[in-house]
Amino acid sequence: MVSMSGIYIHIPFCKSKCHYCDFFSVTKSEGREEFAALLIEELEFRSDYLINKQVDTIYFGGGTPTLLHPSHLETVLKHLRKMFTVNSEAEITIEANPDDLSPGLVTSYLESGFNRMSIGTQSFFDEHLKLMNRRHDAAQAIEAVRMASAGGFRNISLDLIYGIPGMTAGQWEQNLTIAAGLPADHISAYHLTIEPKTRFGRLKKAGLFSEIPDEESVEQYQKLLKILGEQGFEQYEISNFARDKRYSRHNTKYWTGDTYLGLGPSAHSFDGSCRHWNPSGLAKYTADIRSKKLPKGEVIEQSMHRNEYVMTRLRTAAGIEKAGFQSAFGEAAWLELLVMADEHISKGYLIYENEKLRFDTAAWFRSDGILSDLFVV
Ligand code: SF4
Repeated sequence: MVSMSGIYIHIPFCKSKCHYCDFFSVTKSEGREEFAALLIEELEFRSDYLINKQVDTIYFGGGTPTLLHPSHLETVLKHLRKMFTVNSEAEITIEANPDDLSPGLVTSYLESGFNRMSIGTQSFFDEHLKLMNRRHDAAQAIEAVRMASAGGFRNISLDLIYGIPGMTAGQWEQNLTIAAGLPADHISAYHLTIEPKTRFGRLKKAGLFSEIPDEESVEQYQKLLKILGEQGFEQYEISNFARDKRYSRHNTKYWTGDTYLGLGPSAHSFDGSCRHWNPSGLAKYTADIRSKKLPKGEVIEQSMHRNEYVMTRLRTAAGIEKAGFQSAFGEAAWLELLVMADEHISKGYLIYENEKLRFDTAAWFRSDGILSDLFVV
């Protein structure tokens, strides 16, 4: 059987930087016009990465892919199809920012072959969007989702952020209700984290900004499960919800250890035993591509592989299956895992049934502390 792989393409441009974001991107437009050509150079000299594999997911993320000219995105997609065996049913996603979309762009993305759109709505309240330095307002966020749907996208995801300082419980409920009422069958909902190298991180360091209290975070998480559950969304991963099984097939690859090739600055790749990562700086990335220098990599040692397996599978509702774990790491390792998990099973944080170990959905929110008890050194 031919195994399936994914391709991720990082488009490292943003019009401005959101205050919470630590993804690699630059706000200058310099280099944008030539970027598609660089990506094509990279995919040509790295095309053997997925040798003998079919590609069934392609994901253009960033940064802001919609800042690249649509014809450039189309050219990259055409080259991907030329260099790799792309499955006819492939899921091909473009991340879009609400302020960039227009009916004409939606049509051109569809015509180029994109069949899934992930829209960075984040909140439907202007005050939150301003606080986070998003470039769009609430009305544009709603309009973008409707525009994508009216234009023909049948697989739409939207992003929400909770745990925003100043956001009331009522506002969070409204955000969830509005999101569930839009023509999108997938929602990614992330709690705001304050990363050191961001504007919020610097404000926190200066004592001017902080996370919301834990109890509020837990209440908002519970509200998330309740309201989306009532609206027919299944929580298939700790932060991801889907109606009608419209899971993100691409992101699922990261949680189930499938192989993927990452193109563009800061993109990571995984070939089943080694991980590789491209440099983050645009200048360094450009120089490496021009000199056909392969990205740095590391072999994933058995203990690291085992810990990542535990961590990523437990992020999913499916959890860890005994048979899969045993065939990867052996029977003794499975028994060792159960012993490590025992205390959390008895407290109800983890559930072991039908030969599967998984998180209780309520305990998922506090999963970090529990996961560290399940790691081997
Ligand atoms: S959140 Fe998205 S749009 Fe905002 S800076 Fe990060 S990558 Fe750019």
